Amino acid sequence: MKNKKIVILGTGGTIAGTSAQVGDNLGYTAAQIRICELVSALPALANSRFELFSEQVAQVDSKDMDFGIWRALAQRVAHWVAQPDVQGMVITHGTDTLEESAFFLQAVLDPAKPVVLTCAMRPATALAPDGPQNMLDAVAVASHTGARGVVAVCAGVVHSAFDVQKVHTYRLDAFSSGDAGPLGHVEEGRLRLLRNWPSAPVGQAQEAIKKIAFGADARPWPRVDIVMNYVGADGRAVRALVADGVQGLVVAGTGNGSLHHALEAALLEAQAAGVRVVRATRCLNGRVLPKPGDVLADSQGLSPVKARVALMLALMANDD
Ligand code: ASP
Repeated sequence: MKNKKIVILGTGGTIAGTSAQVGDNLGYTAAQIRICELVSALPALANSRFELFSEQVAQVDSKDMDFGIWRALAQRVAHWVAQPDVQGMVITHGTDTLEESAFFLQAVLDPAKPVVLTCAMRPATALAPDGPQNMLDAVAVASHTGARGVVAVCAGVVHSAFDVQKVHTYRLDAFSSGDAGPLGHVEEGRLRLLRNWPSAPVGQAQEAIKKIAFGADARPWPRVDIVMNYVGADGRAVRALVADGVQGLVVAGTGNGSLHHALEAALLEAQAAGVRVVRATRCLNGRVLPKPGDVLADSQGLSPVKARVALMLALMANDD
């Protein structure tokens, strides 16, 4: 009798995708197979020393991930990790926005148990689907004694929610942890840990989630958009967004967060008008290193999409 369980939440993605033509790796539809079927199609999971329990939270291509699903996901993860008989959790998710959901869950919940996001780059109907192995690896990580925090597992590599980024459009090994390097590797069902588990919430994110996910009043999420620096960038997009009521802007600067002078002028105007502005970099590695006298805040090492989540949560926490 197994007295502890691993809870597997399904949200869709390519891991649950099918194509009418076997072997078609591009013309498939994501989010078709229910999580209970994905789990039961993997007899090897029955060897787990934990009982496996699955729940469908959403069924979407992760390009369409939205705040309603994030709210439901945060509620279900918070519910399950609080149960004494739950060892850990796995969440199946599309690869496209996996890093944003992973960062969001770590930021708001900082779970003391493992919450492992996994995915696939090939649909279930591919000649060689990668979802089944990724699922087995994710369950292995969620089963690991001492594991904690939100991580992603893909192609045998374990990434922290803080560092993970999708860096390839097609390869099975589509994620990187950049400069930080992976958290570990899963080899033949065993975790080889290289560094510490993610721990720490982000800013006042836990305050924010109390309002948006657990509060009586489900408030609208603050509007934060991303703009980019590039050759010939100007301030028109920024001014249009400000006129449209944007509350926060993340700019993906070039190099060490550098900005075309015309874009910078518009961002400074926006900031003076009360819009929160954060400067990240469009470089995949490295972080924006602040200089004395910087007027625009840097993203504290977060990529533009994660800096946007952090800024939304910060705005929510202070929205009284
Ligand atoms: N578009 C898919 C998704 O993000 C891609 C994938 O899962 O690989 O849901």
